[in-house]
Amino acid sequence: MTQSNRQARRAWAAARRKHIKRGNLYHVEFRHDHDCAIYTPTRLCNCNPDRVLKDDHGRVLARVKGGGPYSPLEMAEGLL
Ligand SMILES: [Zn+2]
Repeated sequence: MTQSNRQARRAWAAARRKHIKRGNLYHVEFRHDHDCAIYTPTRLCNCNPDRVLKDDHGRVLARVKGGGPYSPLEMAEGLL
């Protein structure tokens, strides 16, 4: 992972800490490249998806680019 990946992931974790609280409803989207391997049977991301946090009305709360490949564990881990 590159230094900029780490900075982006820190920004993403900070955005989630800021907005995800008190049981608010929210949505998280990972915008993969169309040719990302997440869409193949391996389901392993090999692109660099935009991470988008939205509220329950679909308003964008935060958008982080350049965080590196999506990991299936990253939402469960809470603070990547
Ligand atoms: Zn991907």
